[in-house]
Amino acid sequence: MESKLPAAKWRTLWLAILLYYVSGINEAQCDILPVRPIHHNNTALRQVLEALTAKYPNITRLYSIGKSYQGKSLWVIEITKDPGKHLPGKPELKYVANMHGNEVVGRELLLLLADHLCSNYGRDQRITKLVDTTRIHLLPSMNPDGWESSHVGCTGIKGRFNANGVDLNRNFPDPYDGQTNELQPETQAIMNWIHREPFVLSANLHGGTLVVNYPFDNLPSELKRSTTRVYYSSPDDDIFVNIAKLYSKTHPTMHNGNPRCPIQREEKFPDGITNGAAWYPISGGMQDYNYYKTNCFEITLELGCCKYPPARYLSPYWRANREALLKYIELVHNTGIRGFVFDEKGRPIEGAKIIIENRAKKVKTYKDGDYWRLLVPGNYIIRVAKRKYKNSKKTITVDPDAIAYANFTLVRKRSKNFSRRRLAAKMNPVAQPLKSTNNVSFHKVVTHRDKLRLSAKSPGKSASTVLGPFIITSLVCFVLVALLK
Ligand SMILES: [Zn+2]
Repeated sequence: MESKLPAAKWRTLWLAILLYYVSGINEAQCDILPVRPIHHNNTALRQVLEALTAKYPNITRLYSIGKSYQGKSLWVIEITKDPGKHLPGKPELKYVANMHGNEVVGRELLLLLADHLCSNYGRDQRITKLVDTTRIHLLPSMNPDGWESSHVGCTGIKGRFNANGVDLNRNFPDPYDGQTNELQPETQAIMNWIHREPFVLSANLHGGTLVVNYPFDNLPSELKRSTTRVYYSSPDDDIFVNIAKLYSKTHPTMHNGNPRCPIQREEKFPDGITNGAAWYPISGGMQDYNYYKTNCFEITLELGCCKYPPARYLSPYWRANREALLKYIELVHNTGIRGFVFDEKGRPIEGAKIIIENRAKKVKTYKDGDYWRLLVPGNYIIRVAKRKYKNSKKTITVDPDAIAYANFTLVRKRSKNFSRRRLAAKMNPVAQPLKSTNNVSFHKVVTHRDKLRLSAKSPGKSASTVLGPFIITSLVCFVLVALLK
């Protein structure tokens, strides 16, 4: 028996299929935003960033800082008012996540943070101010190759390294050990980025325990031979302790200092923070490189015991870290000193050194002469130095929770040649103008002086040379005529 649907029913069926398909597409698009606390693969990660930049074009920009070993783009979303360029006096901050491919919580937190900043811009006064006044760069995945080979699980190292088998947090040039392994494209991309942009502050998001780790991560080899742990502090240890504590104490449990991770149940971190070398030294870490090679102060956030938790745990992670991530960004506006360095004509001076007395770390001014120097509250003597300029010095007070402003004007030193000329002019005022004239005027001056010299001698010479021979000749003729007579 043959059954046939009437034409009207076919049309209805096709329409239903079409509607289902279209609604599916819409649903898929709606799924992208708002960002959900799920694990986004590399394609979905890029789609989220693209969707955010499409929805909030005035405060976002999507750019790639380079490619991974396998050629995947390393995407950064920039969030700020007037994105795309550094504005004089606007501080820059970066968050980098998923450096170890199997430590994935930070990757999802940065997507949620990007959405939070964008969707609350213009609605929430605090977020609006933060986006207006700060240039925020978020790199959700520094190691997309490693992410692809990782899987859900709290421990293990599968996916930790890049596709070339290198641990990227051991791959930066190290102040003590140099470059111990081949520089990877991901590392090179980060190095280019941090030397190009004037970052003030940064955090590197990891997982595996719950603590904030701050420089130095490495220490000189003679100290490494010791079996005991060594706290190897940077010249700005007080600042790093302060900013690390700000994060850990804003987090609901990190400051307790007792993560109780299954593989290190007894491990304790007072206040939820640790110096890197005191925990365990590493060579080639990213935070040490930031500190000793650039103006940027970076810390490392270990967000929890589980490196790759099931997606249902991502919401609690976000709630625990959201306020700490925001407060950490705000540090660039309420910690230390900032200002500009100009020359006498008010032009910005790039590369001037900001030197704090009794503190070895120097920061340098950026293109617009602007600088930021993180400092704990106190009184400081600041000296600004630049070659060919005289130093400028000021005493500045840094108050708690408020940034101090200090502008400097540098006066050019006189060049050595100029000083020599001035000295020569004093010693020999006649000779000096001759030296400074060009050939033509020098010739004119000489000619004029020669004429003067000649004209001054000419009257005496004419009397003796013209009248003398005439008188003598006349006398001789007179004597000869008398004798002939
Ligand atoms: Zn890690």
